[in-house]
Amino acid sequence: MNESTKNTNRNRENNTKRGYIIAIAVAAVIIIALLVIIIKMPKGGPSRPVPTENVVILSPAATETQSTPEVTTVPTEVPTSVPTEVPTPVPTEVPTPTLEPTPDPTPTQAPPTVTPSPKPRIVDGKTSANPAYEGKRLVALTFDDGPQVGATEYMLDVLKKHGAKATFFCVGEQLEYGPAAELTKRAAQEGHQIANHSYSHPAFGKLTKEEILYQRDTNAQLIEKITGKAPTCFRVPGGGRGQTVRETIGQPIVMWDIDPLDWKFLTSSYIKSYAKEHGMSYDEAESRIIDIILFEGLHTDLDGEYIWSPPVAEEMKHGSILLFHDIYPASAKAVDRLLTYLEENYGNYVYLPFDDFILTENDTVIPGKVYLTMWRTYPSD
Ligand SMILES: [Zn+2]
Repeated sequence: MNESTKNTNRNRENNTKRGYIIAIAVAAVIIIALLVIIIKMPKGGPSRPVPTENVVILSPAATETQSTPEVTTVPTEVPTSVPTEVPTPVPTEVPTPTLEPTPDPTPTQAPPTVTPSPKPRIVDGKTSANPAYEGKRLVALTFDDGPQVGATEYMLDVLKKHGAKATFFCVGEQLEYGPAAELTKRAAQEGHQIANHSYSHPAFGKLTKEEILYQRDTNAQLIEKITGKAPTCFRVPGGGRGQTVRETIGQPIVMWDIDPLDWKFLTSSYIKSYAKEHGMSYDEAESRIIDIILFEGLHTDLDGEYIWSPPVAEEMKHGSILLFHDIYPASAKAVDRLLTYLEENYGNYVYLPFDDFILTENDTVIPGKVYLTMWRTYPSD
């Protein structure tokens, strides 16, 4: 190979090297330029969706068209949260009206259940059904035909001694005697009930309606004048309870279930006869008869007549109406001994005026009804 050929080859090699270098340089420039572009690229591409979300979330007020739907979606959530709070009190108010109508029907239903049962509703209760008298036996002591000077005063003292309240069925003619009327006034002041036993104590079975009304009203006026209160119940002389009497009297008619027959066996004349018959003093005879009435029962009178009268102390029960007369001092002694015995052996008897006695366990005292006990009436219910 010659020198010129060698130079030519060297030049060719040099040109080739320059070409490589230039190519590499160009490539490097291109790569750098691409890197620069790539580095800047992440900020450019996703920028559209990001600002649209940012606009909605961060600046809802900036774009009204977009923020409005966003706001409307937000308020729809807000109102849903608000209404959910509003409906919450509404349902709580809804049960309230459901509670209000509930008590309404209750009272409207309650009266009819109470109204049809003003009749006696306690049958043969051993003790009172009224919580105020729990465990107590309630009895109505009733005294007829007074007032009588001496006997009525004695009876009032006995009742006061035992803390008992009673009902006095007064006779009008008795009330016209001043000193006797004073005893009735005292009885009323001491908490006893003063009731009507007619003006002159006739047999009512033979009276006309007008005569019955005269007997009722004349005595009622006397009682009201003396006590300041008109009588609210009636006892028919002799215990009559016929339809005419019931319809005419127009008040509760009080009878009894226990009759000690004091009008027969505790009169002074009978006690004297008994004392003479048995060789006793008057006081011994009186005490003996009282024991028979209260604890033994009577079977025959002095004439040998058979009379059934069970011992009063055994007959006494819750709801009883006991009949005595406050015109015999011996009757007051009998009541004293009876109440003492019951206190010592039972201790749970309470003696109430008739109206209070009935109303402890009944809704009302019924005009025209005949009461035999607290719950036994005539005609039967
Ligand atoms: Zn009488």
